[in-house]
Amino acid sequence: MISNAKKKILKGMTLDELKEYFISIGESKFRGEQLFNWIYNHISFDFSEMQNFPKDLRNRLNESTILKTLELATVQYSPSTGTKKFLYSTTDNKKIESVLIPEDDRNTLCISTQVGCPLDCKFCATGLMGYKRNLNSGEIVDQYLLTAKEIDKKSITNIVYMGMGEPLLNFDNTVKSVEIFTHELTKGLSRKRITISTAGIPHKIKELSELGLRVKLALSLHSCFEETRSKIMPINNKYPLKENIEALKYYTKKTKTRVTFEYTMLKDINDRSEDIKAITKLCSQLPSKINVIPFNSIKHMKPNGISAELEPTSYNRILEFVEKLRNNNITVMVRETQGDDIAAACGQLAIKTN
Ligand code: SF4
Repeated sequence: MISNAKKKILKGMTLDELKEYFISIGESKFRGEQLFNWIYNHISFDFSEMQNFPKDLRNRLNESTILKTLELATVQYSPSTGTKKFLYSTTDNKKIESVLIPEDDRNTLCISTQVGCPLDCKFCATGLMGYKRNLNSGEIVDQYLLTAKEIDKKSITNIVYMGMGEPLLNFDNTVKSVEIFTHELTKGLSRKRITISTAGIPHKIKELSELGLRVKLALSLHSCFEETRSKIMPINNKYPLKENIEALKYYTKKTKTRVTFEYTMLKDINDRSEDIKAITKLCSQLPSKINVIPFNSIKHMKPNGISAELEPTSYNRILEFVEKLRNNNITVMVRETQGDDIAAACGQLAIKTN
């Protein structure tokens, strides 16, 4: 009897990989298509339910493979906004979070790609908890599947890779999960409904451009000034904004999409008139829009250093900032704070038990 830890994880394999797997065990590649259908359309993870597989094959799969990667631990609900935060346990007892955000015209699932994050952005609770490991592709898709099982697949209309972790540092597994979500057999989501958000890894942005996935891409901008950005996002020392902008220009040309700049409003750090000028100049260089995000407290993490000093820009100041940008013909969205009462808002995801 093989222990669960040594069993092959079939969830998170692309259709081609599943076909290859079945060929490798002496079965028809058509079984790969059938299993893909069971997992992603019927959301079934139990071989005994797969009655179009012969009993002998079901037994063999049961003995040597596994379809389970995550277990739902808790669900927290914000009555004021309808936001739900799902806490999942991995098989090695790590904890990760996903957040379902209801909006007027969509339900967006924000998923994680790493346990913790190595990038240490100073305004982000996940950064403060440190990095444990990458999620495998099964663990990434399982956040969608288990949530879909809870609330019905059709009601998840969008996915954003904006939970815990830097997706482009877990590149292969992130890409695999996108391929699965957008596959025609999954009857899932169009590429236009999937957004990968990155702190900025230029060579990976270029690599993503070449894959033909054409998903939406968002850059965590937060300041147009290299020095300020490096203070609040240490990764900027390694990969300066300038290099990222070049990579984004390449992405927009290759994919014919526009990028989103995420911009968390920090009092006296990035909400000044020179920031408006710099954003205006930046946005004139490539097809783009800016997503303004009120800073959500990370006091629950008891931060120190610069993280402890960060304060939110007042709501009136945000409105003024946005109006000035719009007057400069910049497309600006303002993200309403969703789920801060359950620490599920942007930048607040972190689990102390990890
Ligand atoms: S903002 Fe994103 S990249 Fe930065 S520390 Fe948080 S999870 Fe990591």
